[in-house]
Amino acid sequence: MNRSSQGVSEHSRPVRQFHMMIKPIGPVCNLGCTYCYYLSKKNFYSQESQWRMPDSILERLIHQYISQQDGPEINFSWQGGEPTLLGIGFFEKVVHLQKLHCPPTKRIENDIQTNGTLLNEDWCRFLRENRFLVGVSIDGPGQLHDIYRVDSQGQGTFDKVVAGIRCMQKHGVEFNTLTVVNRENAKHPLEVYRFLRDELGSRYLQFIPCVEPKDFTQVAPRHWDKANLPVAGDTAARPGTADSIVTDWSVDPEQYGHFLCSIFDEWLHHDVGTVFVPLFDCALGCWMGMPSSACYFAEICGKGLAFEHDGSVYACDHYVYPDYKLGNIRETILTEMVYSSRQAHFGVDKTDRLPRHCRECEVLFACNGECPKNRLLRTPDGEPGLNYLCAGLRQFFNHIDPWMRRMADEIRAGGTAEAVMTKLQRKTAPVHPIHTIPRPQTKLNAKCPCGSGRKYKKCCYSKDRQKQPQ
Ligand code: SF4
Ligand code: SF4
Repeated sequence: MNRSSQGVSEHSRPVRQFHMMIKPIGPVCNLGCTYCYYLSKKNFYSQESQWRMPDSILERLIHQYISQQDGPEINFSWQGGEPTLLGIGFFEKVVHLQKLHCPPTKRIENDIQTNGTLLNEDWCRFLRENRFLVGVSIDGPGQLHDIYRVDSQGQGTFDKVVAGIRCMQKHGVEFNTLTVVNRENAKHPLEVYRFLRDELGSRYLQFIPCVEPKDFTQVAPRHWDKANLPVAGDTAARPGTADSIVTDWSVDPEQYGHFLCSIFDEWLHHDVGTVFVPLFDCALGCWMGMPSSACYFAEICGKGLAFEHDGSVYACDHYVYPDYKLGNIRETILTEMVYSSRQAHFGVDKTDRLPRHCRECEVLFACNGECPKNRLLRTPDGEPGLNYLCAGLRQFFNHIDPWMRRMADEIRAGGTAEAVMTKLQRKTAPVHPIHTIPRPQTKLNAKCPCGSGRKYKKCCYSKDRQKQPQ
């Protein structure tokens, strides 16, 4: 469809910007991580499928991705599978084609997501020279990383990943760490955070919750269509139980909340302004009244699509299922798929399908019901569409609320978020996070000052003790 057939002139059409996770080698990987949601995508292709993206598709993608977006910066995100399996030559071709098709008014940025095990001197030289930002997956110190991030023989990969990171540091490659928060490492928030910060030297830490329904390899996550979803709090709504709907390695919702709260407290006391946790930055933006910078917490989905090695385009990286295929660049131009009514519908479904429980939630402005793929539960009053992580997310957003308000106030007054940390370090901050709230001097057997009617020792006293940072 050309612009005139859409009835929109060159000067009146809205600004076009979107983002794609590009999978130049499909789901092929040299590792076999237990929780990988992408390896099983091979099932959607025939046995004889060629996994390497053909040159004709690569050039068509690069040309259209640049020419069909407005704005001065075009971001290419290369993912897998494991994209480094394609070799440096493939990415040299990428850079060459980008230069060929990029007008002087635009700037190209590349990022690549890798498991880090194949990074060597040559790779690091290439990545540095071409200013690729590298996202490397690591789940914490060796004993935690090696539980699920294993090779095809089931052997841990920690040493190889760390060797790859050290090589990047030697060559000055810009990198960030991506940590999948699973049922095991979620029990050790500070060990994970301090390892990434102090031992690895990461300054940009992404945390992604692992939530996988047991049937995720076969069916798209359209949970609201399913009968008998468990209610929040049921045993089936937790990992590791006999009737659980999620895999054993999925993170426990409350554990996830505790994980985020603990890391937030550590960050708040020591690292604001020097260590970047996108989840916290995104939350601060929400407290300042801005739209969420992370799709998980945005009001609508739809602007982060997946582009497969064979030219197929899907609604989202987490919806690479036949039902969510929008077309193929061999037959259809990119913007026709990105701005199709199907994709628009996919986007607004996120808000339209929110249960009342979420619509009335005090932290809806920051959470927005999180990602639809994780909406595996029914609310206490039986409505489907509640997020599996709700208990943890609500705990986290309420926990950071007083601090986010302070930071937002500081910034609005012309200061910085770091000022809140500095005041806290000087012990002049007027509010305290839940872990450090000094309780009034109450006798252990007296009624709890919170008004619950229970004894203080059975109520807030015991809760505070459980929440002490590790
Ligand atoms: S489905 Fe989830 S991952 Fe995909 S765009 Fe929506 S929030 Fe983001
Ligand atoms: S915290 Fe829970 S109830 Fe509130 S918006 Fe998020 S998922 Fe919905």
